[in-house]
Amino acid sequence: MTTQLREDLALANKILVNEGVLDGFGHISVRSPNNPDRFFIARSMAPALVEAQDIVEVDLDGHVHDSQGRRTYVERFIHSAIYKARPDVMSVVHSHSPAVIPFGVTGARLRPICHMSGFLGAVTPVYEIRHSAGENTDLLISNQALGESLAQVLGQSNVALMRGHGSVTVGNEIKQAVFRAIYTESNARLQSEASRFGEINFLTEAEAKATSDMNDLHLDRPWEMWKRNALK
Ligand code: MN
Repeated sequence: MTTQLREDLALANKILVNEGVLDGFGHISVRSPNNPDRFFIARSMAPALVEAQDIVEVDLDGHVHDSQGRRTYVERFIHSAIYKARPDVMSVVHSHSPAVIPFGVTGARLRPICHMSGFLGAVTPVYEIRHSAGENTDLLISNQALGESLAQVLGQSNVALMRGHGSVTVGNEIKQAVFRAIYTESNARLQSEASRFGEINFLTEAEAKATSDMNDLHLDRPWEMWKRNALK
């Protein structure tokens, strides 16, 4: 793993904390550019404290390969199963960002309300862990089979909500996954606000696609700002 990629992943952790997506929990990973069957993620620790030397390597069944024998998060299977199911995905964020939670536990569906969140597409799927593991779980994705059931619900979407828990956001690079995680939370706040006023006029599917394609050309601009603010 290159030094640059390690540093970018550590920085992404700090950015996601500073922007209110991660807190003491949640994680971001990146697929290995040299070996598509491996990904990198921080060892089990608070995201705000992650530095480049805290990154460990994990395979797509969730086994950690670390010469120092360090452990990573219980929910690493979110990442391993999604990388296995989605060859196009190069980075995964799992968070408990608060504004998203109401959309996983009610009939209200998270949909793109503005041009910054067109990546949500027409439908944001909701993962219900009871369907695969019954009514007595701790809601955590703590094994590969649960990861696979989550990846199946995610399908080809960029975001999936996890009922009573949080969400997962994917991208084709760290910057895109970070952008989407931040704007998923922002869209949830805006949609909650707008729903108090009346019926919402959401983006069409074509508008969602067009705005998402446009925003993908400008990922560096907010990244540089988020970076500066996270390192202040
Ligand atoms: Mn979690």
